[in-house]
Amino acid sequence: KKATPKKEVYNIYSDNSFAPFEFQNSDKQYTGIDVDLLNAIAKDQGFTIKWNFVGFDAAVNALQAGQADAAMAGMSITDARKEVFNFSDAYYQANVTVAARKDEKIKSWEDLKGKTVGAKNGTVSYTYLTENKDKYGYKVKTFSDATSMYQSLQSGSIDAVMDDEPVIQYAIKQGQNMVTPLKAVPAGTYGFAVKKGSNPELIEMFNNGLADIKANGTYDQIKSKYLATGN
Ligand code: GLN
Repeated sequence: KKATPKKEVYNIYSDNSFAPFEFQNSDKQYTGIDVDLLNAIAKDQGFTIKWNFVGFDAAVNALQAGQADAAMAGMSITDARKEVFNFSDAYYQANVTVAARKDEKIKSWEDLKGKTVGAKNGTVSYTYLTENKDKYGYKVKTFSDATSMYQSLQSGSIDAVMDDEPVIQYAIKQGQNMVTPLKAVPAGTYGFAVKKGSNPELIEMFNNGLADIKANGTYDQIKSKYLATGN
């Protein structure tokens, strides 16, 4: 059974700085695993999309407001989000973890006492930090985008950040002065999301397309284009 598009163009909302999933390359073009995956799925299934790279919290809000047809933004499938969104099949597994500059002596959550930890608004990391801040005695500072958050870490105006592990690992590989001294926190898998009850055909086409690109090798090609193989 094959779903067919009901709209001429589907408006997709995404993060704006979440390498290797969506980010601007040196030519200022948005690229990344999410971008290539959804473009390949749309091509496979014959639907048309328009990308809007607005930032994670803004994308989630646009989806909830009905302004976005779907979000493809490294969005973790959580029980709270399932109350308001319908998710596709999982397309990527990712934990969240804490990163600090190399010169800092953070070896345990207790070492964060009195420190300031950054997270992006509306993320799983923000929720985790907020739920545990009284236990460990750190302060939480929120950011609307990753660029300002990682700049604040490097300039020393915050002491640590919490973000998705593949994103931190990618930044370290790109040369950011950071280490991940604490055990990662499981955060499940990423899904493509629509507002609950809307665009059901889009979820069906995504799932069918994802299965196709997994079967024909495109999915693995896209992943290894952005990630070193064997990790
Ligand atoms: N996976 C995390 C979440 O869903 C972060 C997503 C992001 O920052 N783009 O909250």
